[in-house]
Amino acid sequence: MSSKPTKKRRVDSQPIPALRPNRFRDLWAGQVAAERVGETARLSGWVHRRRDHGGLVFIDLRDRTGIVQLVFHPETAGESFALGHRLRAEDVVSALGTIVERDPETVNSELATGAFEVQVSDADRLADAATPPFEIESFSGQVSEEMRMRHRYLDLRREHMYRALELRSRVGAAMREFLGGEGFLEIETPTLTRSTPEGARDFLVAARSAPGSFYALPQSPQLFKQLLMVAGMERYFQIARCFRDESMRADRQAEFTQLDIEMSFVELDDVIEVNERLLAHVFAAVGGPDLSLPLPRIGYDEALARWGSDRPDLRFGLELVELTELLRASAFKVFSAVAAAGGAIRAINAGRHDLPRSALDGLIGRAQELGAKGLVWAYCEAEGWRSPTAKFLTAEEIGAINAALAAEPGDLLLLVADRRPVVNSVLGALRLELAERFELIDESLDSLAWIVDWPLFEWDQEGARWDPLHHPFTAPDGALDPADPGAARALAYDVVWNGQELGGGSIRIHDSELQTTVFALLGIDAGEAEERFGFLLEALRYGAPPHGGIAYGVDRLVQRLLGADSIRDVIAFPKTASGVDLLTGAPAPVEIGQLRELGITVPVKPRR
Ligand code: ASP
Repeated sequence: MSSKPTKKRRVDSQPIPALRPNRFRDLWAGQVAAERVGETARLSGWVHRRRDHGGLVFIDLRDRTGIVQLVFHPETAGESFALGHRLRAEDVVSALGTIVERDPETVNSELATGAFEVQVSDADRLADAATPPFEIESFSGQVSEEMRMRHRYLDLRREHMYRALELRSRVGAAMREFLGGEGFLEIETPTLTRSTPEGARDFLVAARSAPGSFYALPQSPQLFKQLLMVAGMERYFQIARCFRDESMRADRQAEFTQLDIEMSFVELDDVIEVNERLLAHVFAAVGGPDLSLPLPRIGYDEALARWGSDRPDLRFGLELVELTELLRASAFKVFSAVAAAGGAIRAINAGRHDLPRSALDGLIGRAQELGAKGLVWAYCEAEGWRSPTAKFLTAEEIGAINAALAAEPGDLLLLVADRRPVVNSVLGALRLELAERFELIDESLDSLAWIVDWPLFEWDQEGARWDPLHHPFTAPDGALDPADPGAARALAYDVVWNGQELGGGSIRIHDSELQTTVFALLGIDAGEAEERFGFLLEALRYGAPPHGGIAYGVDRLVQRLLGADSIRDVIAFPKTASGVDLLTGAPAPVEIGQLRELGITVPVKPRR
């Protein structure tokens, strides 16, 4: 299912910047307005569109602030008139002229400056443009994304793209403003570093000075921000670039930006409180949703139980309902065997939606794709069920299920029986897909909430070991019983917005011994811990304050604020899903000499 934010938002834009008049311009296109009629102005920008009309040439001149019409008149444009004829789309021009009102019948209500035009007396072509591979002005979905990325500097000329980068800049400014005001220091941490443990594959950079050794690009500044707390910085933030060499799922970037925050002498409530105000500040600064604080907090277990997800979309119902106990003793083996094996039977009342058989089969197929062995569908009727499964259940069982699901005649019921995590994730995903199909989501709503009280570890079936739900530096809530890691809860929190994770963090372990214990539970023995994280363990022995923090995905935040379809639309120079930069051609082979210096031999032929 696509988790695309479809909501297009109107976000505020930046005020027009002040200008120091020079030989190129003394006015922005967007500043042409009634109070300037009669004034002479010099404007610069790109030829957005050109039209010849009965001996007159009209140029729509575009700069960052807007578009204004220039008129080249044979009597008033003097020597520049000929230039007017020669100008082509995307040429760069500077023009001097008088701001005049347009005749009422020629007013263009689609342009902010559409009631005026500039009668050109002098103009200069500052740069000639080759014919662009796609039109900037009448851009539509026809242009492939590949073409847009290959010529990104042209793509970014579109107002819509400019707006995205403008919003991004304003979001960053609002973050800095708020955090600066709260006493956070902006501190940079290294890009060439050691492997950091966010669970993805590292990008490696060969070290020339030590052949065979590598820097890793940081997956996050996690360890450095903790060291900054040990260093007594108390409050840190950074808008940091992170690198994770993951097989790229759709709409992800291997290189992304995170707002990274850490604080000392804090408890979970302190971190949450300042972060709620940060979010409210950023949203208010850019015209995002109004937040009413405090945000709701939902326990991890409750989130999974009710919505089947640790980042629930709370804008609609379709909650999951527990049926395991009801069906434990059922004669229908599919149910009773699952219950006996410690699994779960859960269901959604999808409401009154009459789906054809093919769509119901489609739901079964989808549930299987999502990892379930199957899916039981049933239509609640005045008497009993219309369902292939009805014959395996007693009237009492059907009645009890109906009651648990508050089912009324005509309602579509969907049941899944499996291991509990499978049931939750399958029904959680189906819930979102059904909401989309049945248009249950009110796009004017925004729901933000904290998910708290996470388990510290989860059991990895495949690897047969414990994994941290966040990362290995997350502090347990209370004492940790090494004999029962599954019972430990974490002082961790995620903030979710309309069903997507906006940020997440935790209170950290600040005790070297406890950190070593956690490493051991994760299967990292003392030797490996020393090898990989020795510097952290050592730092924790020199007086580490209690500390905690959080990080937000900035690209994702801006994408959602804008309602952009793709994360690539809010990144100036993104890469394709396969990690290629179509503009520069990276990644690319390198000179054989460079490899030699690094002591690297590669199986494929390098350049030259
Ligand atoms: N380092 C974590 C991450 O990148 C965030 C945090 O715990 O502050 O997801």
